[in-house]
Amino acid sequence: MPLQLSDKVRALGDQAQRELVDEFSRIDTIAQENTQRVLAAFQDHRVADSYFAGTTGYGYDDLGRDKLDEIYADLFGTEAALVRIQFVNGTHAIASALFGALKSGDVLVSAVGAPYDTLLGVIGTAEKGHGSLKDYGVEYRQVELVDDAPDLEGIARMAADPKVKAVLIQRSKGYSTRASLSVAEIGEMCAIIKRANPNAAILVDNCYGEFVETLEPTHVGADLVVGSLIKNPGGGLAPTGGYIAGRRDLVEGAAQRLTVPGIGGECGCTLGQNRLLYQGLFLAPHTVSQAVKTAVFGAKVMELLGYETEPHSSAVRHDIIQMIHMREPEALKKFCKGIQFGAPVDSYVTPEPWDMPGYDSQVIMAAGAFIQGASIELSADAPMRPPYTVYLQGGLTFESGRLGILLAVQELLGSDQPVPRE
Ligand SMILES: *Cc1c(COP(=O)(O)O)cnc(C)c1O
Repeated sequence: MPLQLSDKVRALGDQAQRELVDEFSRIDTIAQENTQRVLAAFQDHRVADSYFAGTTGYGYDDLGRDKLDEIYADLFGTEAALVRIQFVNGTHAIASALFGALKSGDVLVSAVGAPYDTLLGVIGTAEKGHGSLKDYGVEYRQVELVDDAPDLEGIARMAADPKVKAVLIQRSKGYSTRASLSVAEIGEMCAIIKRANPNAAILVDNCYGEFVETLEPTHVGADLVVGSLIKNPGGGLAPTGGYIAGRRDLVEGAAQRLTVPGIGGECGCTLGQNRLLYQGLFLAPHTVSQAVKTAVFGAKVMELLGYETEPHSSAVRHDIIQMIHMREPEALKKFCKGIQFGAPVDSYVTPEPWDMPGYDSQVIMAAGAFIQGASIELSADAPMRPPYTVYLQGGLTFESGRLGILLAVQELLGSDQPVPRE
């Protein structure tokens, strides 16, 4: 059966898109500039077919892998980079960077409130005895947000302690309610931190932010950026992995943690995956633009229906995440159900709220991805608690992202229900 959209939903989609001409044009301009940067880096490094050959076993002298490190370093404006399929996820890459940068007796500061949930285990604020930073004698402190915004004075004060050796800045909001940080805001924070403590390394959790702007945090003062390859920079093609780019000593420190001290980035075979990492990076500026358009379109459609969104459809974007406050549980479930119906994979399943470990309320997730858990592919997830906010992200193509959102809206509105307005 072909996908059917009602006339009402179709008209709503057309209206939303007509009203997004300026936003889409801005997104296209960014994608154009980033594509040029990526293409130039490929050419500067004389990317050739032979880079895609790949290695097995120890993975010594993997030309494609080592060149890709250099290309990432160029793109992020850094001395060095480490791009590896051996990183199991973004958390692993961030943890390697933290363990590489910190020793017993050092202090780690999180600059913008609590970090992403999965990092709590790494830091050691949750369960003890798993070899967390805390177990190894690294102390953790956190600068709380003030009115959901970074507390710049508080950051300067907390960073000033000479025992502080690393400051972590999370670019994307994650599951918090604060706004995601712009690269310019991160630059401002870096200047403040450097003034307070020139010896503290500034590490940015760059997840969901890559290629959304034309600059990255390392262009404006951050010492290191870290992210996941099944999000933005993998372009939807990378099958797994993570990257780290930054100051050479910090990248090398992280490499010693990814593998073992003394070996670092010298080992790590690529198992024939190099082409997907290159091709994914080549596509990434475009793929990210498709995801940003999907987010903006989702916001606009839901605003037309009277829902509150964050960011607003007209706002300049700093990551690919879209929040929509669904106000009540049934609406949230229907929205997620519709997103699932629009997926190319697993479209026949119905997402249900479940008790996810580590969360205090049930969580509902809609995702039908080619790569398990890849949130550069259209996905929606939400904790089942007021204001029943759904976090929408991804969309490999705007066309499919648009369809997914319209199917979600159709599910939400039902057949003959009146359009809910505030
Ligand atoms: C996705 C993400 C991570 C890492 O999550 P993984 O599931 O381990 O890849 C870390 N921080 C933020 C803000 C994220 O969005």
